[in-house]
Amino acid sequence: MKKLCCVLLIALWLTGCQSVSYSSGAEGIGDPYYPQLGNGGYDALHYTLELSIDPKKNTLSGDCAIEAQATQPLSAFNLDFSGLTIEQVTINGKAAKYRREERELIITPARPIDNGDVFTVTVTYNGTPKRTTSLGALWSSGWFHNDDNEVFVSSEISSSDNWYPVNDHPLDKASYSFRITVPKPYVVAANGLLQKEVDNGDSVTYVWEATEPMASYVAAVSIDEYMIETEQGPDGILIRNYLPADFPEASKAGINQTADMLSFFSERFGPYPFDAYGIVIVDFPRDAPVAMETQTLSQHGETEYSLSEYVIAHELAHQWFGDSVSLKNWQDIWLKEGAATYAGWLWLEHKESSALDTKVRGVYPMEAFSPNPPGNPPPTNLYTNTIFDRGALTFHALRLRVGDEVFFQILRTYTERYRYGNASTADFIAVAEEVSGQDLTEFFDAWLYARKIPAIPEMGLD
Ligand SMILES: [Zn+2]
Repeated sequence: MKKLCCVLLIALWLTGCQSVSYSSGAEGIGDPYYPQLGNGGYDALHYTLELSIDPKKNTLSGDCAIEAQATQPLSAFNLDFSGLTIEQVTINGKAAKYRREERELIITPARPIDNGDVFTVTVTYNGTPKRTTSLGALWSSGWFHNDDNEVFVSSEISSSDNWYPVNDHPLDKASYSFRITVPKPYVVAANGLLQKEVDNGDSVTYVWEATEPMASYVAAVSIDEYMIETEQGPDGILIRNYLPADFPEASKAGINQTADMLSFFSERFGPYPFDAYGIVIVDFPRDAPVAMETQTLSQHGETEYSLSEYVIAHELAHQWFGDSVSLKNWQDIWLKEGAATYAGWLWLEHKESSALDTKVRGVYPMEAFSPNPPGNPPPTNLYTNTIFDRGALTFHALRLRVGDEVFFQILRTYTERYRYGNASTADFIAVAEEVSGQDLTEFFDAWLYARKIPAIPEMGLD
């Protein structure tokens, strides 16, 4: 009997040994449109970016430390990182081997990592970051540096890897610390709350903390000689705007509506998900977007359109739709862009009751037929008018079908259920059906996937 026990124990021990087989994390997170984006095998928990940035020389150097948790036994794993020179990579302070294949940084730890283990991978690097053409967009994004030595980053959808090593997909959200050192008199604006400014003599270190989970493409730093205007918004929300020193008073008309917009949207979409909001003015070139919903601090260009109430409302609404509730996959981009566009229209309706009707009647015929309906945007260019305008019309048609009370209850249920997480089109439809008690399969099939735009019978549009 004793002998048998021993044999059994040895057999169990051997099985135990054999059951741990370490392997490399996947080189993509599994986005159906962009399988190579992001990485598998771990969950990034927190990024600490400790960087010195010289806007005059357009250089950057420092560390990115990523605290992550293994989701499988890992022999190696990837980060997304392009261009810049790597000095060293460590895991929990010990040097790790690495190699690079285009935007993949493949890291082999000295010892394999067990499933569930939390580890810190630190990449020390330097160089002059670049802009590249993002997947799914016709414009270049990433690191912007202009003749006035202003620096900012704008990364939708896949350009975060141009300035820091990252698991570059909204499915892997994390909190962030930014410790960015710049020469005086430059000022650093980033996501979250400014915790500290450390005076180092001829430079200043700005310490920003973004404690709520954030998708990599809405993490940003912007550096210029800003003047800062702060205001107490509703529900204790801090409003801080980063404006160029010569910013004209007349251009502030839209920005000055922010507190009212926060109240208006909080009533309709549920509580604002973050502690702070504001606008940072950046100099987007012509081949870039006009504004960007960087989390808690949207970037706006300085043109009249960029600073219009519509665009300001649109980027603010993204804090609920796109930032707090991030996409699960990029094919569903209508879900954030349609919602933000519709939110902009709601604001216009709030200011002038006939504005929404005019907008819908104006846009509807333009969207009569879409070779790529909003649920199926072309992977080479996600940013068609259709995902914005027919996306917004989808929300309006839903509102007319279920009525105002149920419609806004759907939006509030959705933003609450998926707050700080991710959602897909299917998740939104499930909430809409649950709250309305209606079968909306045909409705959403027609609005999102049929080439011909459905009728809006309530408005006589067909
Ligand atoms: Zn948008």
